[in-house]
Amino acid sequence: MGHIDHGKSTLLDYIRKSNIVEKEVGGITQRISAYEITHTNSAGNTSLITFIDTPGHEAFVAMRDRGARIADIAILVVSAEDGVKPQTLEALRSIKDAGLPYIVAINKIDKEGANVERTKQNLTENEIYIEGYGGDIPAVAISAKTGKGIPELLDMVMLVTELQELKGNSSENATGFVLETERHKTKGISATLIIKNGTVKTGMVVVAGQSLAPIRILENFKGEKIETATFSSPIRIIGFDSAPAVGIAFTTFSNKKEAEAFQEEAAEKAKEAKKPVAQTAEETRYVIPVLIKADQLGSIDAITHEIAKIKHDRVVFKVISTGIGPISENDIKAAITKEHTVIIGFNIDADGAAKGLADRFELKIEIFNIIYKVTEYLEKVASEQAPRIQMEEKTGTAKILKLFSRMKDKQVLGARVEQGVIALDEEVKILRRDTEIGRGRIRELQQMKTKASEVTEGNECGAMIESKIEIAPGDKIECFKVVEK
Ligand code: GDP
Repeated sequence: MGHIDHGKSTLLDYIRKSNIVEKEVGGITQRISAYEITHTNSAGNTSLITFIDTPGHEAFVAMRDRGARIADIAILVVSAEDGVKPQTLEALRSIKDAGLPYIVAINKIDKEGANVERTKQNLTENEIYIEGYGGDIPAVAISAKTGKGIPELLDMVMLVTELQELKGNSSENATGFVLETERHKTKGISATLIIKNGTVKTGMVVVAGQSLAPIRILENFKGEKIETATFSSPIRIIGFDSAPAVGIAFTTFSNKKEAEAFQEEAAEKAKEAKKPVAQTAEETRYVIPVLIKADQLGSIDAITHEIAKIKHDRVVFKVISTGIGPISENDIKAAITKEHTVIIGFNIDADGAAKGLADRFELKIEIFNIIYKVTEYLEKVASEQAPRIQMEEKTGTAKILKLFSRMKDKQVLGARVEQGVIALDEEVKILRRDTEIGRGRIRELQQMKTKASEVTEGNECGAMIESKIEIAPGDKIECFKVVEK
């Protein structure tokens, strides 16, 4: 993970090419979501390491939301030329949210402008405390282009695995996560899965959400047919009855009956979970429509996920439209049909016609390239557009010590200000055992037998209060002001 252009793809490509014979992989030209290599470290120990690519980081957004760990270790790639950038920090947030151990790969050290020392200091300035700089996060200087430092990086992956005691149990039925799904014209629906624990064999049945597949065709990441696989290998299963959602968990069963029973139970639980009154509460909230355009599907998913997480008691965001590509005139037209629509572009811009139309309708287009900035912006919109409510804020309380006289609704009382300020002509709440029993108004106020406009905490006072409620010693009066929120 890391900022754009800091070398994630180059690193993944380098490791793949130098460890997997290309023709073995069938001359992979398209992106693959996960691959596995064998690495022997400097101590002579050999290990399999699976690399997961994070295009659009859909699976990672899902991971963050569920607090699950699709990966065991993250590699945070930081360019030694540019240092820490906004997306570096965003990636770091994802890593921390998921509680993943991570290694910093300081990349592009072959370049003239590279400065490892400065990058390390820059990491520290951004609270990424690496080894030797006041922290324990391992950092390895590499070049994804020349391959320098990459064996050391892989050694570090093995070391962290050992230190974290990352282990699995191969005698259990396999469980893990869905990385990617694909629809093939003749073969049907397939999915790339990552096994987190246990073993899978042909003849078993896999369940991922509402999708199910009897495992007849099991492939490794190279597309070769295999009979069995164990953690942490990436596998492909062909023949799902529907496409499972990316990022969700999968479970395997030894037969279809068990698989279906599990699926039914899970569906029942999901229905129950959906029932809460949240939906009716939502209806009473002020709805702000949102239109999202982005460079790729993964970004849209990530943004909608984040929007769903914004909690506001008076406002709810509703995504009315999403799409890939620049913001067009048609998007603006769609936005106009609803009042107060928020238009968001992510890693794209608006075309001229769209800008013109938006100007005419005084619609604002906001462009972002960092997801948490979108969230920050929407939170601001929510507080600005939330319907105002009036609230009473306590400014002072006084305890009634004595009743001097009562004439119709005018009562003369002695009191002590316990907190804040009691002021003349203010409306007050009358509290008995902390429950409001009525209201009144302070018509006269005295401190030490002289007229006062206010009496502060700790002082005794005399007050003439006008109220239909008969106030008694032990009651409290509370002054308040009305504020709009
Ligand atoms: P990503 O957006 O993080 O996946 O970045 P890329 O892998 O696409 O790299 C961005 C650019 O930096 C490409 O032009 C790469 O060739 C270049 N690049 C990546 N790593 C290195 C490196 O270690 N050394 C040099 N010289 N160039 C690199």
